[in-house]
Amino acid sequence: VPAGLAPDSTTTSVCGYCSTGCRLKISLKGGQAVNLTPSANYPVNLGMACPKGWEALAVLDSDDRASAPLINGKPTDWNTALDTFCDRFQAIQNKHGKDSVAFISTGQITCEDFFLLGSFAKFGMGTKHGDGNTRQCMATSVVAYKQSFGFDAPPYTYADFEESDVLVFIGANPAIAHPIMWQRVMNNTRDPKIVVIDPRRTETAQVATRHVPLTPKSDLILLYTLAHCIVRDGRIDEESLARTEGFEDFCDFLKDYSPEKTAPKCGQTVAELESLARLVSDPGKRVSWWWTMGVNQSYEGVRTAQAIINLCLMTGNIGKPGTGPNSITGQCNAMGSRLFSNTTNLLGGHDFANPEHRAKVSRLLGVEEDRIQDSPGYAYDQIIEAIDRGEIKGLWIIATNPNHSWIAQKKFAHIREKLDFLVVQDMYQSTETAQMADLFLPAAGWGEKDGTFINSERRFGVIRQVKQAPGQALSDFRIVHALADRWGGCEFLKQWPTPADAFQALKALSEGQPCDITGIPDYQFLEEQGGVQWPFPAAANAAPPAKERRLYEEGNYYTPSRKAKFLFDHPSPLAEPTCEDFPFILLTGRGTSSQWHTQTRTGKSKILRKLYPEECYLEIHPDDARRLGIADRQTVTIASRRASITALAYYAPTVQPGQVFLPMHYPEVNQLTHASFDPHSRQPSYKYCAVKVS
Ligand code: SF4
Repeated sequence: VPAGLAPDSTTTSVCGYCSTGCRLKISLKGGQAVNLTPSANYPVNLGMACPKGWEALAVLDSDDRASAPLINGKPTDWNTALDTFCDRFQAIQNKHGKDSVAFISTGQITCEDFFLLGSFAKFGMGTKHGDGNTRQCMATSVVAYKQSFGFDAPPYTYADFEESDVLVFIGANPAIAHPIMWQRVMNNTRDPKIVVIDPRRTETAQVATRHVPLTPKSDLILLYTLAHCIVRDGRIDEESLARTEGFEDFCDFLKDYSPEKTAPKCGQTVAELESLARLVSDPGKRVSWWWTMGVNQSYEGVRTAQAIINLCLMTGNIGKPGTGPNSITGQCNAMGSRLFSNTTNLLGGHDFANPEHRAKVSRLLGVEEDRIQDSPGYAYDQIIEAIDRGEIKGLWIIATNPNHSWIAQKKFAHIREKLDFLVVQDMYQSTETAQMADLFLPAAGWGEKDGTFINSERRFGVIRQVKQAPGQALSDFRIVHALADRWGGCEFLKQWPTPADAFQALKALSEGQPCDITGIPDYQFLEEQGGVQWPFPAAANAAPPAKERRLYEEGNYYTPSRKAKFLFDHPSPLAEPTCEDFPFILLTGRGTSSQWHTQTRTGKSKILRKLYPEECYLEIHPDDARRLGIADRQTVTIASRRASITALAYYAPTVQPGQVFLPMHYPEVNQLTHASFDPHSRQPSYKYCAVKVS
């Protein structure tokens, strides 16, 4: 330790990148972080962290951290910024109605931030329309669980990675996307079979027991085929089936999905499909299914996720160790946004349409009931469309970067011209979206504020302030409070001056819900217990929470009948199939464990940048490349019907002939992608469009 830098204390904080929710032990000197190491005793990461976690402090000190509010790119003071926010948005609302402004938030802020932001925007500003970038990553799973089980409740605990005999990863690449979850798989001592269903031979597929390189977007057909074989061969778990409804209709529906009919569509043989069906229905084995964006980011994602749920229900792989239809979430607090962002659900996982729920929220918050909307507002894509047709005139973006990440990126740039007023609130003033702002609000980031995140296995964990935010930057929580003070009519928010106070509101909102956390007294309890998975109602408080807990162990689902539902639909046609002019299927996805989404933060770390190419690259099969006369590492043009970009061609036998792969971390990639959406969840379909390469 260099002289003068020896730490004088330590604290802990959950990592602020991905949904794994690793805890980091942070060394402090004079209250400021000087270093970190993974927590050895936390039940999530057991002493491990990925490169992003190790570099979490480094990215807080970058030169482009915003330290003052900006109006049209010029520094100003907070008083002027707050007045500008309120004057401009109120003028728009006075002229065009309350719903003429909207917000788009994130999965990166705390539960307490979500609560305050969602309450202010919907009950204070009075707009109906707000959504999160979480629509881009996990809306599919939310709707799938809610429709099938009656509540958006992922059932698993990370111990299931270690307690499973057969782990099926479908549209998931945890070896790089969730590296610490993958380490949990590596801890499995049951000699498990690991199956990867993915068009690409990903890093995970390369070390799997079995790789199923299906034809892109044949996943729904493949899953129905497995169900067909399981029914045909009588490999049903009757005990599990007794707690479900709709199975007879499902059996009728499956008649069209014999492997003889579907194998060519899936790019598999009949024997391969039949042996996979036997493997995932082996009554002597614990089978778990894990999915991420390959399933979620699809124009038929909800039914695909439910096809996995159906398989688990019919084979009894739910509510037991090492089982489950398990969606892995992306961002550090996407799960918090599902419960507390006040966008798709009313605060606390309630329904806007339910009068009793509205009355409960009204009573708990001290807000008049007529200020609580009776339906959710527009989804992300619908907000963009409403701006395009002139219905929404003002937009407030918090901690997300749609001018890089939105599926129709050019459309986003186009709608900027239609907006009267754009506010961006972020840690960094250099993002592609911040550069467009009329008003920029400088925000503290992870490490500079307190609050809670919920990880993929429903575990509440605490984040702590370990650094002073630069200049005038404020936490999102304080920014919203300041805006609400200036806006007027938001006195009810004064009840929760700090994140710790707001946590008490979260508890009250959760009472009686499947996500009830009334048994958690405070942040200190969460830190001492190593986080707590919801639910943890007050009645459970007599005993410490078990370190690992899963749902549906007694088979009680949350539907009115208490039974899980079989839900299914025939596959839809591809939104943009390949053709003579655009003969390649473009797949996009995560390219590395060292970069995060649009590189807004991770791009600031010299170490993380060294672990990843600076220039955009395209993975192409060597046979295709040679046929087109393309050398390895040669610059190529990739064109879709919407745009054309350049990238370095990498020879990659891991992609199939006729397919190419671009990592999502580079800003140009989403100029190409095609905007199609799942009809149930409005989740964009990033995983398939037609391109040409030259
Ligand atoms: Fe952070 Fe996720 Fe890496 Fe864990 S795996 S250190 S939570 S980014």
